[in-house]
Amino acid sequence: MSLWVWKFGGSSVAGPDRIRHVARRVAEARREGHDLVVVVSAMGDTTDDLIALARQLHPEPPARELDALMATGEQASAALLAMALDALGVPARSFTGWQAGIQTEGPHGSAQVRAIAPERLREALKAGFVPVVAGFQGLSAEGHVTTLGRGGSDTTAVALAAALQAERCEIFSDVEGVFTADPRVVPDARLLPVISYDEMMELARLGAQVLHHRAVTCAQHNGLIIHARSTFSDHPGTRVVPADTIEPDRPVSGVTSDRHVARLALVSVPNVPGIAHRVFSALAEAGINVDMISQSVARNGHQDIAFTISDGHLAVARRILEPVVRELPAERLVVDDRIAKVSAVGAGMVTQPGVAATMFGALAGAGINIEMISTSEISISCLVAREQVDDAVRAVHAAFGLGAER
Ligand code: ASP
Ligand code: MG
Repeated sequence: MSLWVWKFGGSSVAGPDRIRHVARRVAEARREGHDLVVVVSAMGDTTDDLIALARQLHPEPPARELDALMATGEQASAALLAMALDALGVPARSFTGWQAGIQTEGPHGSAQVRAIAPERLREALKAGFVPVVAGFQGLSAEGHVTTLGRGGSDTTAVALAAALQAERCEIFSDVEGVFTADPRVVPDARLLPVISYDEMMELARLGAQVLHHRAVTCAQHNGLIIHARSTFSDHPGTRVVPADTIEPDRPVSGVTSDRHVARLALVSVPNVPGIAHRVFSALAEAGINVDMISQSVARNGHQDIAFTISDGHLAVARRILEPVVRELPAERLVVDDRIAKVSAVGAGMVTQPGVAATMFGALAGAGINIEMISTSEISISCLVAREQVDDAVRAVHAAFGLGAER
């Protein structure tokens, strides 16, 4: 019998009717003769609600306890889906991450899967049960409950598919697959039938919420094809595959945005060695990831250093940088959390000139000012005012001719 790993996102299990719908889909696949391991996210906005609850009790909740709290969301949906399956006459068993043998390493809130010991899942399969695994969580070597970062249930599914040598790994959500842009923002966005691991990883890193970036890394590492599709239709969706299996016919494959960005600028710091090191090592020690960085040309022996971080880290970054500002010294620290990042991603841009010019032209044409620019081999990102970011996505998407043909 072939083994499939199926993962259902939060909106697919948002209430009893949807859970029942998922259960019916699973039951049908079973009837067709497939073995399934199902991974679930927390119901609807549960994770956000749990974080908000925690913040009502603590301004910066201890990471260990926040993980312990967040992990309950997925445990609830796993148990509920197992019940719904049982009600349909399909024997099922829910598993927490640690019961499923998922071992993690790294910090709370963004741990990585270190290893999987899937014996209990194999036993359950052998005994005829559908294992339903709580996504997004595992147990550290020290025995702490850890979570894998927002959207991390995808990674649970891919890691399990690799460990169990599943024949298929399908990630179900409320969208039909990976689009050239978020269809809620760009009505004529097109579904991509295939996309390469590298492009998908870059899109996920730059804000696209369809797949967790670590899930894509894990799939690439294991040579596993991820299939992203809709819970609510039979549409074939998007397959995430090795780059060498697709023809690169376009400079840009997709446009995405990230609103969870904050920019900090240290104004007028001395132009001497060691300043950047002092600033960024302080942030690194606190586990804060820095994204874009720019440093101005020095004037009168002073310059500005600006950089972006995830806006969730803003409070901590401010606190850490206060003494650094006094020590350097910098004239002041300027914070802007009304900004967002728009990015164009495409493996084809490596060989095609003029991609950056097209993107900047699109933004200029829409009257959108660029606050900061960064590039990678297969992406270009611009920082813009947050209230203009959807317009920016539409303008860039149109400029690269990504919309559906009419
Ligand atoms: N429930 C977690 C989140 O909302 C993990 C996931 O959905 O994959 O980020
Ligand atoms: Mg979720």
